[in-house]
Amino acid sequence: MGGFAIAEKFLSFQGEGIHSGRRAYFIRLFGCNVKCGWCDSKSAWEGAAPETLSAREIAGAALDSGAEIAVVTGGEPCLYDLRPLLRELSARSVSAHLETSGTLPIPEGRGANFAWVALSPKLFCPPRADSLARADELKFIISDPRELSDCERLAEGAGRAKAFWLHPEWSRSVDERLLGALCEFAVSRGGRWRVGWQVHKLYRAR
Ligand code: SF4
Repeated sequence: MGGFAIAEKFLSFQGEGIHSGRRAYFIRLFGCNVKCGWCDSKSAWEGAAPETLSAREIAGAALDSGAEIAVVTGGEPCLYDLRPLLRELSARSVSAHLETSGTLPIPEGRGANFAWVALSPKLFCPPRADSLARADELKFIISDPRELSDCERLAEGAGRAKAFWLHPEWSRSVDERLLGALCEFAVSRGGRWRVGWQVHKLYRAR
């Protein structure tokens, strides 16, 4: 069984989405196929990974952390076959969440499933239809209100999702015009549309 290249792993809290505020053990896997210019996690795909661990070692650390949930993130975690890690987490009764761009198939199956899939579509590199359909929530990072029509089109493919989050891109997180446009859009659409912030950044948390 191959190991997992780890960019970092740490205990913090979930700062985004429906599970915001929950104590979470983040497993940031190394590597990304998307490479957004504005990425705030470039250390997860530039240079070299600081360590490689087995699924058993990662799951043991997640359990020992005492977190409510384990968040498998990146980079793009679906570059890896995540099923061995999911089985090890399940064997320890650790609830596994995934954060993905949706540009690759989500590796699940045969007793290896995520309890929650948060998919953050990148408009210049759209998600696969099957990954979009699997998502439990969508998180859009918006820097320009003109992107909202593309968000709405993508949301149509996420029939299982319980929420479609609109977050301002962090360098514009107090831009009144942008926040006003996101708020107006979410209120006018109603239903599953939500406005939010990347709260962990407000708290200066990782
Ligand atoms: S998909 Fe995520 S990790 Fe990859 S470059 Fe974009 S923001 Fe960074």
